[in-house]
Amino acid sequence: MAACIFCKIIRGEIPSMKIFESEKTLAFLDIGPLSRGHSLVIPKYHGAKLHDVPDDQLSEVLSVARKIAIAQGLEDYNILQNNGRIAHQVVDHVHFHVIPKPNESEGLGIGWPTK
Ligand code: IMP
Repeated sequence: MAACIFCKIIRGEIPSMKIFESEKTLAFLDIGPLSRGHSLVIPKYHGAKLHDVPDDQLSEVLSVARKIAIAQGLEDYNILQNNGRIAHQVVDHVHFHVIPKPNESEGLGIGWPTK
């Protein structure tokens, strides 16, 4: 879809920090991370909400999210997927957040290490 920001990322028209790419799936770092390493996993197929995307286009998404969590060595994390404004969806291209939950001593894990 021409105006969709995530479709532009898929086409390479705007930059992203890519983590994983296959024929159907792309994963990249979130530009506004809720914690260090917060990433997004998206189907390349454009659909605004989960029910707009065919099953076969979603087949890898959870597996990729799982592999990112393993690769990051995460123990505690959220996999989150929002549909619609009331549910806090801002970007209308289906995406799954992988949000690391650092322990309390690490804070949000954003910014320069202090020690
Ligand atoms: P939503 O609220 O589930 O729709 O989340 C959209 C997410 O996309 C937010 O966490 C944004 O920070 C993220 N985002 C928006 N634009 C970009 C971008 O250009 N690159 C990476 N992440 C983005």
